[in-house]
Amino acid sequence: MVEDRTGTSATGGDVKVLEDKLEAANKAVASVLETLSHDLRTPLNTIIGFADMMDQAILGPVENSQYRSYVEDICREGRSMLDILNDLLDRQRFESMERSDKDFRHMIELAPDLISVCRDGVIHLINPAGANMLGVWPVETLVGRRFEEFVNADCQPLIADGLEPLTERATRLPLTLCRAGGGEVDIELAALDYQSEDESGGAVMLMGRDVTERNRALREVAAREDHIRKIMDTVVEGIITIDQNSIIETINPAAEKIFGYEAGELIGSHVGVLMGDNDRRLHDAHVARYVKTGQSQILGQSREVTGIRKDGAQVPLVLSISGFVAQGRQFFIGAIHDDTERKRAERQLWELATQDPLTKMPNRNVRNERLDAAVAAADTDQGEVTFMFVDLDNFKKINDALGYTAGDEVIREAGSRMEMVIGNCGLVVHLGGDEFSIIVDHPPDGVEMETIAKEVLAAVARPFMVDGKEVFITASIGVSIYPNNSKSVPEILKHADLAVHEAKRRGTGEQCFYTSMLSDKAERRMEIERGLRLALHNGEFHLVYQPKIDLEDRSICGAEALLRWNSPSLGFVPPDEFIPVAEESGLIGEIGRWVLITACETAASWAEFFERPYHIGVNFSAAQFHEPDIVEWVAICLESSGLDPKCLDMELTESMLVDNPDHTIGVLRTLKDLGVSVSMDDFGTGYSSLSYLTRFPLDTLKVDRAFVTNLPEDRDAVAIARAIVSMAQNLDLHIVAEGIETENQSGFLHALGCHVGQGYLFSKPVSDEEFQTLIGGNIVALHACE
Ligand code: C2E
Ligand code: CA
Ligand code: CA
Repeated sequence: MVEDRTGTSATGGDVKVLEDKLEAANKAVASVLETLSHDLRTPLNTIIGFADMMDQAILGPVENSQYRSYVEDICREGRSMLDILNDLLDRQRFESMERSDKDFRHMIELAPDLISVCRDGVIHLINPAGANMLGVWPVETLVGRRFEEFVNADCQPLIADGLEPLTERATRLPLTLCRAGGGEVDIELAALDYQSEDESGGAVMLMGRDVTERNRALREVAAREDHIRKIMDTVVEGIITIDQNSIIETINPAAEKIFGYEAGELIGSHVGVLMGDNDRRLHDAHVARYVKTGQSQILGQSREVTGIRKDGAQVPLVLSISGFVAQGRQFFIGAIHDDTERKRAERQLWELATQDPLTKMPNRNVRNERLDAAVAAADTDQGEVTFMFVDLDNFKKINDALGYTAGDEVIREAGSRMEMVIGNCGLVVHLGGDEFSIIVDHPPDGVEMETIAKEVLAAVARPFMVDGKEVFITASIGVSIYPNNSKSVPEILKHADLAVHEAKRRGTGEQCFYTSMLSDKAERRMEIERGLRLALHNGEFHLVYQPKIDLEDRSICGAEALLRWNSPSLGFVPPDEFIPVAEESGLIGEIGRWVLITACETAASWAEFFERPYHIGVNFSAAQFHEPDIVEWVAICLESSGLDPKCLDMELTESMLVDNPDHTIGVLRTLKDLGVSVSMDDFGTGYSSLSYLTRFPLDTLKVDRAFVTNLPEDRDAVAIARAIVSMAQNLDLHIVAEGIETENQSGFLHALGCHVGQGYLFSKPVSDEEFQTLIGGNIVALHACE
């Protein structure tokens, strides 16, 4: 520049003008540099300081290598910019200094930074800004003091070798100064060799920039970052940030745990490793579109997605994504909630609502839904829906005999056999216990419903293997059909129910299709039940007595008490019709007690009147026999009526002996201890084997009318009658033949070895008075009354 100013090509005046211009230009350059220095230095320092902190991991670990090299770049570039700036400025200052000591002084006076000339560490010169930083005033009092006095103890080692080595440093030295009046100032210190003309020894010029504010700001940022990181570390939600290339920038421990990765393992990976193939494609498309168009369908929404764990397992998640831009780059934050627990609970609820807990088969709720849908579909396409109610027969016996675990096993197996039969034709539902229902809404062409029902029955009837044993059960099926005989869903259910009851009434392993007759029957049954509830109270019952005849001499030896009901609304209802209703509705207990006491009192009155005992047979239902106070009640009746216990004969049926044999045997023994006798009624019609009978303390077998009616012409009837009588004799049992209507029958049975007979040949059941007349007249011939 100086060279330029003394160029020789111009005249003296020109030179002056030129010199002025150059002077002005130099001033302008100086001012630009001052401004640049002031305006650039601060932000540049902030950038470098921030990058430094990143580099030194003050703000937390920088795992991403790409990220790290960015930081290093920023540091390096920033420093070199600062160096250039310093260089320019220093050169300018020195040039100015050469030009004018005054300017130089002014510049130093006004500079916002500490500027000081030190010789051997002693302050030789310092500007007001420097004095201000050191907290000493006036400026002159600083001259002669050592610079290091003002350096914080922690920083002392940095200047242990004096200030001179600082001139060699490429970068500024961060130092903390202690102000004389207290307080600290963070500065960045640069040093230059300083040689003034008047002094011989070496000196350094120090320039210190106050960076307290900047450092405080950076520390605040760091603290905030730290705070945020702590939050990230502790939140239960997983948080992942990715860049626009879907590279994971940060991931918190919760997210690492959800996906089963080690800490930091996922940083730098493509986020797609956490997704299934499909989701990954969708994700990439979403991100690409968003980056390109700014349009998004998923930002800001919670969505259910499936994540892939490190071990490959799927994990249900709720994901919400938001986007942000930092340093010109697009980032996305995914907040992730592990939905496994909620899903599990939801699934459990769903199972509870739709599955039977034992068989895991569809339950009643599903049945209702499917039935509604099937009926609606049938309405639309003029189709049909067949509904079957399936009930396993006597299932209680399986449970009693084999235990509940085995019983459950049988139920599960029965259910799956039904499902095999029905296949795609419909739905098998487990209603609970031993009850199932079947909806056939897609019947195969040309197959009768009866055939399907038979197949179901056959499937259940096949033996079950339980604990290595074969178990046999049967089922009963009631069928209703929409719209043929049932016009609505409630009717379908009701009619199938009626039908299965009818099937049960017919025996085991039966199927019954609903007809309107069943409804009539059910209606009548309900009327009977309603009537029975009032009958006892209203005195609508009475007993009739059918004489029992000694076949040897045709004398009356006793009677069977038979119940009669004259209902005001229904008229005469035969016992065969109302007794089962009384049994099913639980009314038989009370009615039976009335029968017993009435019969005992009547028989006692005969004994008193005729001065000889007459046997009285009283019928007992199974339900009655299982009442806990049966023995007590019999004892009370005997005592209060005064009837000789030997005169009371309890007539039981085979079925009640089969039901719960051990209990029955116990009760029978106690009853017999009272002195009463026990008869097996309707013998031969039940299913008990003959050997079975020997276990029971019986006195008499009553041969059922069915075997008497065809005697003596029918050879089979004869064979059976013979067998029964000879067996009874072997077991030392009395034999009573029921339903004798002809002399032939009477004679034949007597000849076989029957002792006592009962039947229309001798007398129909008659009233108490008539019975007494019969005894009185000893009339044992055909009697036309009742
Ligand atoms: P059951 O114990 O077998 O009674 C005999 C039934 O056969 C009686 O019918 C009787 O009238 C009928 N009978 C008697 N001799 C002849 C005959 O020569 N020919 C024909 N065709 N029938 C004859 P009933 O009185 O209608 O009783 C029907 C059933 O009702 C009884 O059968 C019994 O099981 C039940 N029952 C009657 N009274 C009672 C009672 O007080 N309690 C209980 N639990 N059941 C009763
Ligand atoms: Ca009887
Ligand atoms: Ca009988």
